Amino acid sequence: MELIIIGSGTGVPSLLRASPAILVKIENTHLLMDTGPGTLRQLLKANIHFSKIDIILYTHLHPDHVADLVHFLFAAKNEPQFRRNRPVSILGPKGFLDFYEKLKMAYGEWVVVSEEKAILSEVPPYEKIIKNNILINTFPTFHTENSQGYRIEAGGRVLAYSGDAEETDTLVSLARGADIFICEASFPQKVSGHLTPAIAGRIAKEAGCRCLILTHLYPECDRANPVAKCRTQYDGPLIIAQDLLRIKL
Ligand SMILES: [Zn+2]
Ligand SMILES: [Zn+2]
Repeated sequence: MELIIIGSGTGVPSLLRASPAILVKIENTHLLMDTGPGTLRQLLKANIHFSKIDIILYTHLHPDHVADLVHFLFAAKNEPQFRRNRPVSILGPKGFLDFYEKLKMAYGEWVVVSEEKAILSEVPPYEKIIKNNILINTFPTFHTENSQGYRIEAGGRVLAYSGDAEETDTLVSLARGADIFICEASFPQKVSGHLTPAIAGRIAKEAGCRCLILTHLYPECDRANPVAKCRTQYDGPLIIAQDLLRIKL
């Protein structure tokens, strides 16, 4: 399993951090979680053409996490290099298909691709599905009504991604014993529906994670020494996400 942080930022434009996107490479499968604005171009910096993506998982439908879905579909429709043996599985939480219907109302045929290219569907919370020998487990994250995080298991490794989240016991279950827990740490002080570096640390400790990566940092969080804040709660391996950071696990 290899992890590449494609975008470690938020919806705020930043030269330091691109909007949220996490790539996981498992054998020949490229799995992408969230596609904030600029993700397809950011993938190229990691030497990954968007036609290589096999699975996309959406945590929720805020524009900073989903904006490049339109770009993905439009590019898949028009790029002659986009050839697939199997369609891309694009999965989102409850409400995702309704969201797509609304995109079609706005963009019409521009965002409609054939079923040989991509299939969009919903995956409910507390669900376990298997795709390409990868076990994908969903957990609600209470950031929006239907937001969910993903726990990915393959080859004896576990990677957990919070997406945007509220502090709950469910998040501890999502991250339980993970080899890597990629957790949002939006703000230095608690804001409803988001976490702080200290809370992310507390969850990682409670969950017994082997490594914690803080991501989705707003500029004010970067300025507020997130490592020191996280260290008040957690003393295990800790990484502040950077765009294009690669980790093998
Ligand atoms: Zn966000
Ligand atoms: Zn959000």
